[in-house]
Amino acid sequence: MLPVEETNEVNPICPHCGKVLFKVLCRGLESVFGKRYIYFYPECHKVLGVS
Ligand SMILES: [Zn+2]
Repeated sequence: MLPVEETNEVNPICPHCGKVLFKVLCRGLESVFGKRYIYFYPECHKVLGVS
């Protein structure tokens, strides 16, 4: 198992446009599965994932 270390000193980089990410945007989704969220990059709006 790999350990996970939380950090606020390094910012992630968008794999799509290569820009440094200072935050990730999300929007709520209404579905039969209940309240879900879609996460996307603020610069290029590419979707990171859904929870
Ligand atoms: Zn991007």
